[in-house]
Amino acid sequence: MTRSISIFGVTGSVGQSTVDIILSAPDSFDVRVVTAHRQVDKLAEIAVKVGAKVAVIADESAYLALKEALSGTGVEALAGQAALVEAAGQAVDICMAAIVGMAGLEPLMASIEHCKAVAIANKEPLVSAGPLVMAAARRYNTKILPVDSEHNAIFQVFEEQNRVSIERIILTASGGPFRTWSLDEMARATPQQAVAHPNWTMGAKISVDSASMMNKALEVIEAHYLFDMPADKIDVLVHPQSIVHSMVEYEDGSILSQMGASDMRTPIAYALSWPDRMRTSGDRLDFKALSRLDFLAPDDDRFPSLSRAYQCLADGESACVALNAANEIAVEAFLQEKIRFLDIVDVIDSVLESVGSCALNSIETVVDLDGRCRTMALDYIYSRQIKLGV
Ligand code: NDP
Repeated sequence: MTRSISIFGVTGSVGQSTVDIILSAPDSFDVRVVTAHRQVDKLAEIAVKVGAKVAVIADESAYLALKEALSGTGVEALAGQAALVEAAGQAVDICMAAIVGMAGLEPLMASIEHCKAVAIANKEPLVSAGPLVMAAARRYNTKILPVDSEHNAIFQVFEEQNRVSIERIILTASGGPFRTWSLDEMARATPQQAVAHPNWTMGAKISVDSASMMNKALEVIEAHYLFDMPADKIDVLVHPQSIVHSMVEYEDGSILSQMGASDMRTPIAYALSWPDRMRTSGDRLDFKALSRLDFLAPDDDRFPSLSRAYQCLADGESACVALNAANEIAVEAFLQEKIRFLDIVDVIDSVLESVGSCALNSIETVVDLDGRCRTMALDYIYSRQIKLGV
């Protein structure tokens, strides 16, 4: 059976792994829409390679460049945020949501309204607007397929029919590149060191999030909404080998886990072929080559982000919006060397302290609060002038 598919954020790390899967089974997929932010040439190249009908560049000023790059290929070129959202409204069997950050929220909501299934890698909209995203999926009867390797693992072993028997879900965390670093060492960490993840090759933002363990914090909130599990039933264990991708523990003492190599093509293939499975050429796990599997409790002193996630879930949805917005601003500032690595959590705390609580009953209210939190984070950064070496 051929499935129609659109890929939002096709030029990114998840986007390209998705393309790998599609090219390995070209008869199984009919690619309609591919999108990117600014990488025109890469977008045009991928669009032609996968035989997409439409390519959308979010940055409007890149329209002419995209049109020229696609001239004579038969792929339609579109540009701008409105075009992105409109393209997400094209009904397809499955939409891959792989934009990074809250920029993916509006296209995500449009794809949930119009597509049969949405594979979600783009965790930030789930963190900030989880109840609205999941309510829309229920309203439009759209299947949400988790792509994040941990949530995909849980999805694979979560017995919905035995939901009441589930005692807890356990998210595993690699611990990132700074797992064994002291606070002094982390204080001097450079963006290059932060993005050098030991097990996964990913985009810059999620790599920094992994280094601070904010990625796991966002994933706790993501799991809360995706699986409708209370925070006290979501645990985190550091597992440096990234082999056990997450676990579900049942009341009879059984723990089901999904294992595999650290290769995003496995969870992506599962999402794209669900409820079936498809063959991939991804890395395979060689048990004979494994000497050990380690599991450790997270260290809250060196990685305080994780406790912020639980606090935000207790405080309510506004706090989750603030956490995500402040983190996006702080990570960008760190990557631009405007703040130091350990300042990221200070920026987040400053916004969490002032955000207050408001009703978030529409996407517009979430977007509005997200914008205000970003301004607060920027104000904090500039008022403190926490510049590297200053
Ligand atoms: P990348 O940075 O590698 O790619 C991001 C993609 O989003 C690119 O196609 C980029 O386009 C596009 N994009 C960026 N900003 C905008 C914008 N303002 N408007 C529209 N499109 C935009 O990210 P990743 O692939 O690493 O991650 C994507 C999402 O998946 C994130 O939410 C991340 O947390 C999640 N995720 C990623 C994993 C991974 O292994 N990488 C694993 C699990 C989850 P351009 O290239 O033109 O800039």
